[in-house]
Amino acid sequence: MTADNSTANTSREAAEAHRLIAASSASRALNLLGDRWTLMISSSAFAGVTRFEDFQSGIGIARSLLTDRLRRLETAGVLVRSRYCERPPRDEYLLTEMGRDLFGPSMMIIRWEKRWHFDPKVPAHNMKHSCGHDFIPECRCNHCRMEIIARDTIGEPGPGAGMEPAPKARAQRRSTVEINSGTHAMIERSIEVLGDRWIAHVIAGAFYGHRRFSEFQQALGVATNILSERLARLVSLGILEQSQYQDSPVRYEYKLTPKGLDLFPLVLELVRWGGRWMSDSAGPPEYIRHKPCGGIITPLLTCSHCGEELTRESLSGL
Ligand SMILES: [Zn+2]
Ligand SMILES: [Zn+2]
Repeated sequence: MTADNSTANTSREAAEAHRLIAASSASRALNLLGDRWTLMISSSAFAGVTRFEDFQSGIGIARSLLTDRLRRLETAGVLVRSRYCERPPRDEYLLTEMGRDLFGPSMMIIRWEKRWHFDPKVPAHNMKHSCGHDFIPECRCNHCRMEIIARDTIGEPGPGAGMEPAPKARAQRRSTVEINSGTHAMIERSIEVLGDRWIAHVIAGAFYGHRRFSEFQQALGVATNILSERLARLVSLGILEQSQYQDSPVRYEYKLTPKGLDLFPLVLELVRWGGRWMSDSAGPPEYIRHKPCGGIITPLLTCSHCGEELTRESLSGL
């Protein structure tokens, strides 16, 4: 590499480090959670795992990675460390209230999986509600109780609206580790969608109305090679569809397919969770309004069989 190239790279990296994007609760949540190991650790914690060795054997993760991700979750306030043995010193990791509040997003992951990738071997797909029945978690408006779909909603700025630094690029190798679905609540498809931070950001961007390459790039502050690769992957996963809008030069736009649009309740739960736990003192950067009733939505998660609200205590087999 010549001296000129290295100067160019350094200044480009510096420019990317200072790029500002519109603050969004979903992005804040995804910056923390949009990582396959973090997702697997959180879902194991939901299944009752608390100890380092049990996380490690259940997930099949390297010790150094597990140490790093546990520390990150602890710093964010999702897990808290508690000493269960003095000699030798041993800690366990417990979900905080913020961690337990990930119940909503996890229900919406299970909803999407059951609708598009049902697998009877995945324990979470067979859980029962306290009404005694199999069910699919539903996402309803807390005001009018209608089931929420993307086109019935509109985003608007909240008290914490503004700009913030774009997420930094993080070395994230694609992992090919096989997931042990016996101890795992999530299937590979969800991990593929959510466990890659940029994939998850691109999906959220599509819900914010971005269609064109330049729109995604501006909104996410992402490098072009990363964006091209993630858009292509989302097309191959059946979440986005590509259509040409210009001949010369050839340009494409990207729209959510029905399967992609059906991820909306999950995005909504991430907006709620990020807004509740990751806002500064001004308040959440955005609200989502339900057009049919005019109310600002706090999602209400219900059982598709009996219509009652879902709580962690009302489920068995999770
Ligand atoms: Zn409503
Ligand atoms: Zn029920």
